[in-house]
Amino acid sequence: MKNTKYVFVTGGVTSSLGKGIIAASLAKLLQERGYSVTIQKLDPYINIDPGTLNPYEHGECYVTDDGAETDLDLGHYERYLNIPTSQANNVTTGRIYQSVINKERKGEFLGKTVQVIPHITDEIKERIQILGETGDYDIVITEIGGTVGDIESLPYVESVRQMLWEKGEENAIVIHLTLVPYLAAAGELKTKPTQHSVKSLMQSGVSPDILVCRTEHEISDDIKRKLALFCNVKKEDVIQSIDAETIYDVPNLMLQEGLDAVVLKKLKLDSEKQPQLVEWNNFLQKHKNPTSEVEIALIGKYVELHDSYKSITEAFIHAGSSNETKVNVRWIHSESLTPKNFEKKLKGVDGILVAPGFGDRGIDGKIKAVQYARENNIPFLGICLGMQMAVIEFAKNVLGLKDAFSTEMKSNCLHPVINLMESQENVTEKGGTMRLGAWDCKITKDSKVFEAYKTELISERHRHRYEFNNDYLTQIQKAGMKATGINPKTGLVEIVEVPSHPWFVGVQYHPEYKSTVLNPHPLFVDFIKAAKTQSEK
Ligand code: GLN
Repeated sequence: MKNTKYVFVTGGVTSSLGKGIIAASLAKLLQERGYSVTIQKLDPYINIDPGTLNPYEHGECYVTDDGAETDLDLGHYERYLNIPTSQANNVTTGRIYQSVINKERKGEFLGKTVQVIPHITDEIKERIQILGETGDYDIVITEIGGTVGDIESLPYVESVRQMLWEKGEENAIVIHLTLVPYLAAAGELKTKPTQHSVKSLMQSGVSPDILVCRTEHEISDDIKRKLALFCNVKKEDVIQSIDAETIYDVPNLMLQEGLDAVVLKKLKLDSEKQPQLVEWNNFLQKHKNPTSEVEIALIGKYVELHDSYKSITEAFIHAGSSNETKVNVRWIHSESLTPKNFEKKLKGVDGILVAPGFGDRGIDGKIKAVQYARENNIPFLGICLGMQMAVIEFAKNVLGLKDAFSTEMKSNCLHPVINLMESQENVTEKGGTMRLGAWDCKITKDSKVFEAYKTELISERHRHRYEFNNDYLTQIQKAGMKATGINPKTGLVEIVEVPSHPWFVGVQYHPEYKSTVLNPHPLFVDFIKAAKTQSEK
């Protein structure tokens, strides 16, 4: 059993400072030094999970093997650390309250008045320690969502305060991430916002051990000294986090600044073994020195907010590096694609990816994009809804089933080639009720996907209610679209391909969730490879 140590990461001044990337970069460095590390995100909103959130609100909903619908930061954790996360790695205020209220209904509080302190804070502390109690980790990094000073963050900061006291200073520390803005008119970096946010943290009884300062310009020694003096930390505990060219530079930048060394010193852990980052830097080297370029059209209905497709664009970066190719994304709003303009809008791309999604907004544009890819031999990857659109397009335009559709968009269509799973028919609640998490899939040997995965049995993550309708399987296969991946337990079609096309693959699951820096996803790698071949034509 390990004596797990805890590192808390709080944020000050503004949101979007990149707490997730700082947490993941620190974890990466600690992992490279030989420590087992995991990262957890606590989200102060009242939704039970982000599964019911519109992507415009919060970006992509990330999915873990155990079927948790989570914050997109967990995607960063997995991409950096190359180890899976689970439901325990993401907790929301909604989940905390739900659990406390359920206990109250069961009478577990024995007549006591249930209050934020101690009941909510006890529940938060329990959730923080669940990962430590597995005995698997030397260090658990807990990222507190939101910004210090927000009303909804208060119970979390109080829980951190209690844990610091309970664990002792060698076992639990706080990193506070702040912004040091540059005022162009004055030509100066300003420390006041950081002073204020630290003050607000201190009002809650928490004194940060380390300050990580986001900045556009180098922070001088003088400014570091000033920050240290007014924020009650040592000068060497003020770490600069300067804007980086790519998020994948941040582990190296934090290594140069010594963030990992400072953390280990405070936790009284051995820091002799230096992080090497060999494979990481190999990835970066290829990422920064591509020998070719491809352009991929990404068709989705949330393209205004690129974070809605975070895991997909990161998987492009991993696959691009592995192909020594720069992947440029042409963002195309599915609603903007019409029968009149789709050829013009898609002209010249080397690959087309039709993205996941829900509902019928922009659906015709997605079908047009599939048709363009299929008819013009352009490498195509359809993910989840994108795969369903590939099946619909094929049924309509090749099989001639004009009224082929998904019952999600047209409940009374004549040919429901995509329909609701039987197990979904009586589901009325929206939250957490889709087919979620990891499912096995058996791959046909003679296929593009087998070439990519090089194995017959794979496991991939799902998040959907609708499925390929097996009543149409024979007809569709006869016409030239093959089911090359089947769920061995249920017989559901998980992968379709068009073998007469250079590279046309639709997958009912989400390969993007499993792409990491050290393990670029094989389907993305082969998709980009096919796009590279296309671009050379
Ligand atoms: N809306 C589709 C379904 O529920 C696809 C979901 C998705 O793309 N994640 O089946």
